Amino acid sequence: MSPDTSDASRLLTDTHCHLYWPGLAEHADEVVERALEAGVGTIVVPGINEETSLAAQALAQRFKGVYFAAGVHPSEVENSEGFRPGEFFAPFAGDPKLVAVGEIGLDAHYDPSAVERQRPILRAQLEYAVEHGLPVILHHRDAGRPLVTELERFSQLRGVFHCYDGSKRLLNYARNHDFYISLAGNVTYETAHNLHSQLERIPESKLVVETDSPWMPPAPVRGKRVSESADIVYTLDFVAGRLAKSVNMLRINVTRNSCGLFQIPGDSNGVQPKGH
Ligand SMILES: [Zn+2]
Repeated sequence: MSPDTSDASRLLTDTHCHLYWPGLAEHADEVVERALEAGVGTIVVPGINEETSLAAQALAQRFKGVYFAAGVHPSEVENSEGFRPGEFFAPFAGDPKLVAVGEIGLDAHYDPSAVERQRPILRAQLEYAVEHGLPVILHHRDAGRPLVTELERFSQLRGVFHCYDGSKRLLNYARNHDFYISLAGNVTYETAHNLHSQLERIPESKLVVETDSPWMPPAPVRGKRVSESADIVYTLDFVAGRLAKSVNMLRINVTRNSCGLFQIPGDSNGVQPKGH
């Protein structure tokens, strides 16, 4: 008997939630409570700049089971002139709740030339992650090729492609390196043909799930409200259905993968406020 399959009490991890964002931050207590009721034991909150990384850190201090990542998102690069990793990460270094560098990456969606301005800050953060043994949470939009070029500069790098969009290039990279693929609510959209066509190619040992809340609401709640961590169950159910796998087995596997990715304990009692 495998100890993993017998341990059905292990709780899910939402590997990507912007809990400090307006729409979630005002009722963080309720969001966290509903997450726990839905079986989510761990939430990883990535920052996108200095201010939100500090906000993510404060949420991690407030809630047991909430962890955080600090980083400068490609969309924030224009506001980060003179970026120095030593300075940026100083408030977070040594915090036991810091589990990754992120969210960082490249985004060519609105302006392909922006990638060249994003590269140096991405590279500096990848270097910091490798030096400190932290995984990276990667944002990628229409920039798979330059992103892989940057990742290939490092041999010790590990991390996750967040909000996976069906890119074959990124999936191949994850399959051959210490990288995970994170599925968000967009996998439940009928129109996500490209993404659906790759689902079976994602090794189950490399798969994690996220909400990217307040964005990417899964199909059942899309257009009705912002998403939140509890909605991760829709994504998990959808993926299990598509792959014809048991939801429970998939839940156990993605939870184990998340714990390995972020080096966090898997037997957390949930995301309730400390002292409860
Ligand atoms: Zn995000």
